[in-house]
Amino acid sequence: DCKATIIDGKAIAQTIRSEIADEVRHLSQKYGKVPGLAVVIVGNRKDSQSYVGMKRKACAEVGIRSFDVNLPEEVPESDLISKVHELNANPDVHGILVQLPLPKHINEEKVLGEISLEKDVDGFHPLNIGKLAMKGREPLFQPCTPKGCLELLSRSGVSVKGKNAVVVGRSNIVGLPVSLLLLKADATVSIVHSRTPDPERLVREADIVIAAAGQAMMIKGSWIKPGAAVIDVGTNAVDDPTKKSGYRLVGDVDFEAACRVAGWITPVPGGVGPMTVAMLLRNTLDGAKRVIEQ
Ligand code: NDP
Repeated sequence: DCKATIIDGKAIAQTIRSEIADEVRHLSQKYGKVPGLAVVIVGNRKDSQSYVGMKRKACAEVGIRSFDVNLPEEVPESDLISKVHELNANPDVHGILVQLPLPKHINEEKVLGEISLEKDVDGFHPLNIGKLAMKGREPLFQPCTPKGCLELLSRSGVSVKGKNAVVVGRSNIVGLPVSLLLLKADATVSIVHSRTPDPERLVREADIVIAAAGQAMMIKGSWIKPGAAVIDVGTNAVDDPTKKSGYRLVGDVDFEAACRVAGWITPVPGGVGPMTVAMLLRNTLDGAKRVIEQ
């Protein structure tokens, strides 16, 4: 008795990837050049390795060339920054991604600030975020996960203009930029965070809910306004002895209950996750087109 349309992020991301592959082919036929993405990873974190592996594979599939930079855990900050400068100067590289989190001895803000604005495909440079926040300005790149959330809405036929949108979470990588994107798209936006006294009251009013708190099943079915569009960014591992791995992934929304009330809902996994990678490819292609076509 799920009433909601389940938004198939995997299928939508696949469609976007084939659109990108077509454009990459055209670019290469016309100019003899392909987009290039540099992925910088520091240390051996398993989750980071696996994200980076996915990004590389996705690049290969659409014809984007990837440049891998693996640095040891104990690399000095200055060496990492020199590497970023080297990639900034490399004309075959159109996008630079530094996989987060970085080891504690490295100042993340300083490193991200060194990435050339024209190659900031993650969209995390303070100037790109600042432009996102300002009326009448456009950043060169929008952050991938937030952009993926809006793309899921638009490709599902959900209009944002004039709607009440509630974002749960205010992080620099998801909550804040997704709020700014919704505002740019003319929604009326409320942001819920850990100091918000009554999140339920706000979520109940929302035509669009973006859940990005990292709290398993925090948002109950009873909180959802009938017919609302629910985008669940949360990716939380919970113990599950029936799984070989011993865990399974759940979102921030109680999916089973919410899908009886919502108009649209994304599953976890298979909702926002695949879109993040697709948007990274899109940003890399757009960055390359700006350089190659001029
Ligand atoms: P952070 O931990 O950086 O931010 C969480 C935000 O949620 C904070 O703003 C925090 O508030 C708020 N919050 C935490 N608990 C509550 C609560 N009980 N009530 C209200 N607000 C709360 O997480 P991220 O933004 O990096 O990620 C959010 C989730 O999205 C995670 O599950 C992550 O795994 C997932 N994610 C998924 C991606 C994908 O591609 N699918 C990509 C990136 C993230 P405060 O600011 O007050 O601390």
